[in-house]
Amino acid sequence: MSNYFQPEIECASASEIRAMQSEKLVKQVKHVYDNVEYYRNLMDEKGVKPEDIQSIDDLHKLPFLTKADLRDAYPYGLLGVNLGECVRIHSTSGTTGRRVVAFYTQKDIDLWEDCCARAIVAAGGNKDDVCQVAYGYGLFTGGFGLNGGSQKVGCLTLPMSSGNTERQIQFMQDLQATILCCTPSYAAYIGETLKEMGISPDEISLKAGIFGAEPWTEEMRRDIEKALGIKAYDIYGLTESTGPGVAFECEAQKGMHINEDHFYAEIIDPETGEVLPEGSKGELVFTSLDKEAFPLLRYRTRDICLLSREKCSCGRTLVKMRKPMGRSDDMMIIRGVNVFPSQIETVLLKEGYSPNYLIEVDRKNNTDTLDVSVELTPEQFSDTVKDIAKKEHDLASAMTTMLGISPKVHLVAPKSITRSEGKAVRVIDKRKLHD
Ligand code: ADP
Ligand code: ZN
Repeated sequence: MSNYFQPEIECASASEIRAMQSEKLVKQVKHVYDNVEYYRNLMDEKGVKPEDIQSIDDLHKLPFLTKADLRDAYPYGLLGVNLGECVRIHSTSGTTGRRVVAFYTQKDIDLWEDCCARAIVAAGGNKDDVCQVAYGYGLFTGGFGLNGGSQKVGCLTLPMSSGNTERQIQFMQDLQATILCCTPSYAAYIGETLKEMGISPDEISLKAGIFGAEPWTEEMRRDIEKALGIKAYDIYGLTESTGPGVAFECEAQKGMHINEDHFYAEIIDPETGEVLPEGSKGELVFTSLDKEAFPLLRYRTRDICLLSREKCSCGRTLVKMRKPMGRSDDMMIIRGVNVFPSQIETVLLKEGYSPNYLIEVDRKNNTDTLDVSVELTPEQFSDTVKDIAKKEHDLASAMTTMLGISPKVHLVAPKSITRSEGKAVRVIDKRKLHD
């Protein structure tokens, strides 16, 4: 077994983990208070001193950090070390407003790569594997994170980055890649391209995929597993707390184990900020316990999910987080009803459609409109106009049942919706344009 299965941590008892976390937290709070003026001010405003934090039980006394704080403090305001100690930056995709920039010391990079290495081992990887990394390399954390983890495990690492799908497939075949790392939407696209090229899943050597960076449904997992002939594992992370690898899925494929020796997770009520008991659904908050350069305490991710300490069949005791089904800011409020893109995706895949869809929300005559364009497969496309109209109607009713409001469904020609090589853009909210 690889060095990156660490039972002394991954299978430790809850009390052992908590003791380790408490010890790290006390040091980390002192580090932040001494070095990060921005957070020191927040603590002072709340009247909390480092001495008030003696264990994880005291964590709730600390103030939250939000994305708005990160923007305020851009670029250096949350640095915990001198810039001279930093060796790398990464940045969020930052489609709205200012980007968030995260800094790393060499120790931070090592810690992050260890987390990714654990994820690869949990997906069955070892030094004899050939790991194709098709996440983007660059400011985005996906490529570099998995690349580092793959090398630590000792896999032969193919730093493909995203895009150039036919070349991906060529390398996959020639070099007999066994593990693929990319976004789930890109994995689906690679699967689709394989099929078009007439290559069956038996003709490639892939056995596992590590897919994350965006929400995806169980239905999509099954589709990808079939198209590529693999087991597909989820991986979660965010730039603010390193990148992918904060949490990873094991062979049970039922939620992701959080690397609790580095990240302490809480679930809070997004409205009140109150910490919720295990098993409640709410906003995920992370405290990084030993990062040096960008040591965020109680960072609000805006991701909605829940935590569980139920026993896992893999033997790991690390707390598990449920697949986040969207961020609190992904949620659309349409005619007063909360709608998540993942609900629409679930219906589509259940009804036998492809995961290639686009949601458009607009407001006409003071009423919100919801249009969902869904691509047909070439086989479905050969149906008559009448059949297609019936399918649109049936799909719209299935969505109405799921969402509680009725969308307009448009079945469109194969290949007419742009494919994603990174994080997919699934929603266009035109209402924002009118504001
Ligand atoms: P950005 O905020 O610009 O997208 P990141 O690239 O750091 O920046 O993305 C982190 C976010 O991506 C997470 O907060 C979460 O919303 C989403 N995410 C990452 N991994 C997963 C996953 N496995 N499932 C669902 N969402 C994920
Ligand atoms: Zn497990």
